[in-house]
Amino acid sequence: MKIIEKDFHISSKSRDQMIDITSQVSDIVGQSGITNGDVIVFCPHTTAAITINENADPSVPHDILLTFSELMPQHRPGYRHGEGNSDAHCKSSLVGCSEQVLIKDGRLNLGTWQGIFFCEFDGPRSRRVLVQVRGE
Ligand code: ZN
Repeated sequence: MKIIEKDFHISSKSRDQMIDITSQVSDIVGQSGITNGDVIVFCPHTTAAITINENADPSVPHDILLTFSELMPQHRPGYRHGEGNSDAHCKSSLVGCSEQVLIKDGRLNLGTWQGIFFCEFDGPRSRRVLVQVRGE
């Protein structure tokens, strides 16, 4: 089994933002030469996350972020963390820091409407995404 590790940087533009990183991940898979296996996309940050959801209609990421902001408001009585970004830590844990996608015939085996998103919850910032491609 072959293992390829890569990373890339992205710059978020607002405090909450879902950035479609499907093409970056797909390019890394394509360059790896691995045609059957899987890819792990990992976010090494505590106030950001990785998720898979619809990337056809931009209203979907908008509505996801709207729902998160209602469930986890930025300012809330009872938060203790001094940085003022407790909501971002909560969102990061809820969404999770990685996703795994199967690779079939050299391509990401995503559903028709699925894309991979980097979720920014405490931007704007420069962020890093780690990608590991494994397989044959
Ligand atoms: Zn913090």
